[in-house]
This record gives sequence, structure tokens and C-alpha cells, in this order.
Amino acid sequence: MKIALIAHDKKKTDMVSFVQKNLDVFEPCELYATGTTGTILNKHTGLKINLKKSGPLGGDQEIGSMVANQLLDMIIFFRDPLTAQPHEPDVSALLRLSDHYEIPLATNLSTANYFVEALRFEMQNKKV
Ligand code: PGA
Repeated sequence: MKIALIAHDKKKTDMVSFVQKNLDVFEPCELYATGTTGTILNKHTGLKINLKKSGPLGGDQEIGSMVANQLLDMIIFFRDPLTAQPHEPDVSALLRLSDHYEIPLATNLSTANYFVEALRFEMQNKKV
């Protein structure tokens, strides 16, 4: 299972707690992340994360390229809906591609919690 993890700045703490709480699910996965999110996650969880560039510097587009090449199974992207992002066009492009290629994409903690429960269930039933 190849999963990309991305969090806007004000959501990074939420992302760290979310991954820490679900280490059993994320440990066996191949993980990718935008630069800052991935560096922080690695520091706080010890997970091996394949780092892309920082989001505002092209990282979201790199993740989008993985989607277009069908190299990802899931994206968890904690967006900050209350802060304008300089790279909003890149974020929109990533969402658009994920819809086109039908890649499951969670943009908030509640949806992400459902995703990990589904993954945990599949792992326990050896489908992942
Ligand atoms: P970052 O990028 O992980 O490098 O902060 C995330 C984003 O803003 O898309």
C-alpha cells in the first residue's frame, strides 16, 4: 500500500498525532510526503518516509505526478481551510487528478480515521 501524507502548516500537529495513533497501519506501508510534513513525521514517529519537495515548492505537483502515473493507492491531505495558500493551484490540481484516477483522498481527520479503520480491517484480513 503506497500512501502519501501531506499537511498544511496549521495541520501538521494533527497529522503527527494521527500517524502516531495509527503506527500499526502505517508501518507496513510505503510512505511518501511533501518535504516539511515528511521530515516532521520522520522525526516524531521514526517511520521511513520518501520525501518530495516542500508543497509550495512543487511537492504537491510531485505527488500529483505519482497519481497520474498510478503510483499511489491513497492520499491523506490535512488541508487548512482557513488560510490562503500560495500554491492553491497545485493543491487544486492534485485534488482534480485524484478524482480523475479515483485515488481515495482524505482531506480531514474524520475521513482519514475511516480510511485507517478500513486499512486495518484489510490488513487483519491479509488483503494488503
Ligand atoms: P510541506 O507541504 O509538507 O512541505 O509543508 C505541504 C503543503 O503545503 O502542501
